[in-house]
Parts: sequence; structure tokens; C-alpha cells
Amino acid sequence: MKQPLVIYNTLTRSKEEFKPLHENLVGMYVCGPTVYGDAHLGHARPAITFDVLFRYLQQIGYKVRYVRNITDVGHLEHDADEGEDKIAKKARLEQLEPMEVVQYYLNRYHKAMEALNVLPPSIEPHASGHIIEQINLVKEILDNGYAYESEGSIYFDVPKYNREHHYGKLSGRNLDDVLNTSRDNLDGQQEKHNPVDFALWKKAQKEHIMRWPSPWSDGFPGWHCECTAMGRKYLGNHFDIHGGGMDLIFPHHECEIAQSVASQGDDMVHYWMHNNMITINGQKMGKSLGNFITLDEFFTGSHKLLDQPYGPMTIRFFILQAHYRSTVDFSNEALQASEKGLERLMDSYRRLQQLKPSPVSSADINGIRQKCFDAMNDDLNTPIVISHLFDAGRTINSVYDGKATISEADLNELKEVFKLFIEDIMGLKVTDEAGQSKAETAYKAVVDMVLNMRMEAKANKDWAKADKIRNELTALGFDIKDRKDGFEWSI
Ligand code: ZN
Repeated sequence: MKQPLVIYNTLTRSKEEFKPLHENLVGMYVCGPTVYGDAHLGHARPAITFDVLFRYLQQIGYKVRYVRNITDVGHLEHDADEGEDKIAKKARLEQLEPMEVVQYYLNRYHKAMEALNVLPPSIEPHASGHIIEQINLVKEILDNGYAYESEGSIYFDVPKYNREHHYGKLSGRNLDDVLNTSRDNLDGQQEKHNPVDFALWKKAQKEHIMRWPSPWSDGFPGWHCECTAMGRKYLGNHFDIHGGGMDLIFPHHECEIAQSVASQGDDMVHYWMHNNMITINGQKMGKSLGNFITLDEFFTGSHKLLDQPYGPMTIRFFILQAHYRSTVDFSNEALQASEKGLERLMDSYRRLQQLKPSPVSSADINGIRQKCFDAMNDDLNTPIVISHLFDAGRTINSVYDGKATISEADLNELKEVFKLFIEDIMGLKVTDEAGQSKAETAYKAVVDMVLNMRMEAKANKDWAKADKIRNELTALGFDIKDRKDGFEWSI
């Protein structure tokens, strides 16, 4: 069933009804990670936001081709045209091949995304695998007169472009604002005609290892080229949605628009969507501030700012409890509140499966499905969906406690709605009373069972068997402590 989905378009600064370019196929492009370090909250938020959009579009009847790229070349330090390539720098520091760095962090990124129950995109193209497409894009822009060569590098001529088009329309800036904030006296700036110009192709210095031949020099593409080239390759000259974090609006997405207009005459994107940022205890995240918490550190609780570990579903639920265009502030208190809220929701979901139908309903569940759809249709308002589900949870509890009754039809409707919105659309994995998945619960039960066998062996004075169990578990990495009334274990 198609729903009247309304989304906020960053470009027009207004909510617009979503009308796909093609009847049944939606094209969606989201900027993926630059893989030179472990994934952190700044990666989790766009991944989860656009995962929910991806899931929702499919639930309301669209086929979706979702492209999320991997930046493995050309992203220089400070997100500008100077400094070292982020991946090459990591490779130099760790004495690895750049592609070893890419593979290592990409594997870890995928693991973290899987833990967060983020679906893999339809296509995950690497920038380094699309150098030819990027060189062709640069040629088109040069041919159309919006770029120039300087010392083997190619720069986009922003002032010239701005005379005919508006450079800054996405971020709401004009060229003077941009000029005032541009840095100068940095590497490469003397090659530019104007400090606002940006690199489309950079000639590689002698020591630069990531380099490819081009008509202009041995070098590498500018960071912004990849998304324009790969979006066009896989989604066509015009596609529906381009997403990313708000921090990418300027310069990255602004430059993408300029490249698209300068090469093909118009912007290839119909709806620009951006998720807001995450702060930690009210502060911006940053390596220098010591509050840069990776997802693995959240999952294990191993960062000094964390009071305890927070499971991937707690992180996911926490992110969905805020609207994607609001800022989110992470603190232990807020995360603990989310953990409790998620437990409450899962409790009602489990109780729902145990309810017995009555001939008539005294509980009112009317309209819950449409209320949840209405919230999703209003620019993906997941916090409102969650509040409707909490309301329904109160109904479930009163039936569970025998204070209300529910008919079979209403019961089935509630079961369907809970599954649809909790699991299929919001992507929350169902857990048991202890907040664990079925596999985790089974694993813990097996370890307890083996340790109970050891207790029995001890009770029967079969010391050899008791020691064997203990030694083998220890060799597997278990830490076993005997207690007066039993045992404790950890791994
Ligand atoms: Zn991008």
C-alpha cells in the first residue's frame, strides 16, 4: 500500500510530498564512511536514519536501489584540498598497504553495522574502483569551461560557476560568506585562482602512494568527485534521494551539486536529506576532546566516559527516540533511560504473544496502524511511532493483568502492527527478558549447564572430571570463580 510520504528537503527547506521519478524504483544515495578508523556514533546515526528510510520505502511498496559508498581515496585531512590522504596517513603510521587499512576498517564497519541491525545497501561502491568515471566527470567539467588546470591539478572554478548558478544554495551561503571562511596559506592554495576553488584532480607528490594516470598528471581524484560519478553510474543522471549527515552539506554536497550542474546542466538529486549531529554530554565529538567513543567501546563499555556497556539495540533505540533532524546528546543517564524504555517495549511485545482473545474487546486499539503510518509519513517521525507503541503497550498490560479484554481480530492486528513497526521498519531486534538475543541466551545456558556438571562431579568427588571441565573452559578464555552457593563466570 503506497503511503503519502512527506520528507524534508534540505535544498528547498520545506517538507515535500515524496514523488519518485520512476513508478516503482526509488534511487537512494548516502555518503558512506572514509575507512581509516573504527566506526563511532557519527557513523551510526546516518546509517540508522537511512536504514529506516530504506526499510520504510520497501514496506510501502517501492523497490529501492540503495547505494552507500566507501571512501578509500581522495579524502584529505581537514576535509579540504590540503594535507595528507586520511587512508595513506594511517597506512604510513601503521606500515600497511593503504588497501590493507581500507579492508581492515571496512570489515570492522560491516560488523558494527550488522550489530546495529543496519541492512546492507544494494550497492557499496569504492571510490578507488571508479577512477575512470571520476576522470570522465572532470573532463566534462573542463570541456564545459567550469574548471582549469594548474600545475597538473584540476580545480573547479567556483567564481565563474557562481556567476551563472548559485554556489551555496544547499547550505544557504553566498560566495562572500564562503570567501571569508576559506583558509589560505595552505598547501595547494597558491595553485588555485581563488581560495574557494576546490580540487577535482590532484597531482600526486613523489611520496604519495595512491596514484593513477590521467590526461593531466599521475594523481588522484578530489574527494567530492566520487559521489557525483558513482551516483550517476548506478542511479542515473537523475535520482530521488541523496542523504548524509548535516556536516556534509558544506562543502561536500554543495560541491556535488556544482559538479553535477557543471557537467550535465542540472542537479541530479531530487530530495536532499540530512540527519542532525550527535553531541556527547553537550560537547561536540572530537578526537582532541577525548570524547570520541567508538561503537565497539559502547558495546563493551570500555571507554572511561561510560558507566556500563550499552547494547547495539539500546544505541539504535536511543537514536530512533529522537527525530533525525534534531540533535541528539549522548549521556549515561539518557542511554540508561533508553535501555529501560526499550526493555519496557520488548516486555509488552512478549506479553502480546501470550494474550488470550475474548469474544469482545474492551481495549481500544483502533487506528494504531494508521497512527504509526501517519507518524512515519510525517518526515519519518520515529519518536511519535514509539510513543504510539508505548500507548498500545499500556493496553497490552491491562489485558495481561485481566483489567481489559481483547478480541481475536484486535489481537492479530496488534501483533501485526508491532512486528511491522518494531522489527521491519525500525529494525529493532527482539530480545528476551534479559535483553539478549536467542543465541546469547542459549550460549549462557550451555555454559551454566557445563558448570553445573562440574558441580555434580565435585559433589561425587570426581575431581579429575571437575578439573578437566575447569581447565578446558579456562583454556577457552572463561574466568570461573567458585562461590559458597555455586559459581560465577565471565569471558
Ligand atoms: Zn559523498
